[in-house]
Amino acid sequence: MISLKRNSKKELTPATGLRSRASSFYTPNQPNLFKISRSKFNDFLTCQRCFYLDRVKGLVSPSIPGWTLNETTDLLLKKEFDLCREKQIPHRIFDQYDLNHIVPFMHTEIDKWRDSLHHGLKINFKNTNIILQGGVDDIWLDKTNNKLIVVEYKSQANNKAVNTESYLSNVYHQGYKIQMDFYAYLLTEMGFEVSPVSYFYVCNADRSTTRFDSKIVFMETLVPYKWDSTWIENKVWEMIKLLNSEIIPEGNNSCENCAYSLQRTNLTFMAKDQKGLSKKLFRNSSKWRTYKNRVNIRCHGICEYCNLRKMTSVHHRIESRLDSDYENPNIKDLMGVCEECHDLIHNNQSSSNNSLEFQAESPALSGDNGYSTLDEPPGHWIT
Ligand code: SF4
Ligand SMILES: [Zn+2]
Ligand SMILES: [Zn+2]
Ligand SMILES: [Zn+2]
Repeated sequence: MISLKRNSKKELTPATGLRSRASSFYTPNQPNLFKISRSKFNDFLTCQRCFYLDRVKGLVSPSIPGWTLNETTDLLLKKEFDLCREKQIPHRIFDQYDLNHIVPFMHTEIDKWRDSLHHGLKINFKNTNIILQGGVDDIWLDKTNNKLIVVEYKSQANNKAVNTESYLSNVYHQGYKIQMDFYAYLLTEMGFEVSPVSYFYVCNADRSTTRFDSKIVFMETLVPYKWDSTWIENKVWEMIKLLNSEIIPEGNNSCENCAYSLQRTNLTFMAKDQKGLSKKLFRNSSKWRTYKNRVNIRCHGICEYCNLRKMTSVHHRIESRLDSDYENPNIKDLMGVCEECHDLIHNNQSSSNNSLEFQAESPALSGDNGYSTLDEPPGHWIT
């Protein structure tokens, strides 16, 4: 899908592709505390290049729409469990699994722990400046041993009934297990005793009903999972090493985001090339000669920048993003200039422009004079 950037008033705004607040990304070897959420840690495990470009270079991935239906099952389940929490009674599903010794865990911080956006479970990792955090769906209490049970609600719509073995071995659920390992690790590090078995509360929507009748029916299954957090610390150390490195790492060979970006970059340079060609064609047109003549008459053939030397070319004062603007300039935005002044103007423009598009100038497009092989001075390359 293609996403358009909107501000808080839902108005379209230019998309920069970069984070604007410096505190939202990491500077290698910075002393300040920096939060890494469970989902960013998962990004690190998935593709190091994507993780690095996001967390260190401040690149923003295109936004995707929310998971409204999944969030709704989470929200409604939360309401049910909160009622049981208040009364400290087992939830209706525990009966089916002979788990009536379990109640939802009561704690003053429970709402913060479940708020993945602003808080979550939180630890400072080993006296580093890294804070690990993650919002858990729920925590239950085993009353027989006072240990905490980590719980994740999951919604899906699969034709096959949920069974523990296939649920846990499904390749698309490996991230769920990582999620569970991570939360169990955080809770343990926060000083709680955590039960070795966690639960996925899986809600499977029934797709076989013959009608909609304004409802979707779910089959609920508790999938027990023995979490394992022994691998986590090594990976966090690796992640911290990467955050403090100045070198952009390789991506995952199967990363679709990396593949898309690479192909897109190649085509962006091709588009720049084409744009240069169309500008060159335009500057050989009779329409452009007419513009040049009008400017020449206005300035009496003398450079309008130094007012000394003979005018040799015409400069666009305003950089145009669109070909149509470039080819239909307002005469007052054109300036008759001499060669020296024209060079000067463009050199000033390119040195004052620090945007990525100039840093990203392809060596293949640059001639010895620093201009492109298409005789286009810098300052004109707009993607
Ligand atoms: S160099 Fe660019 S700005 Fe200057 S005249 Fe040519 S097209 Fe216009
Ligand atoms: Zn587009
Ligand atoms: Zn990637
Ligand atoms: Zn001049």
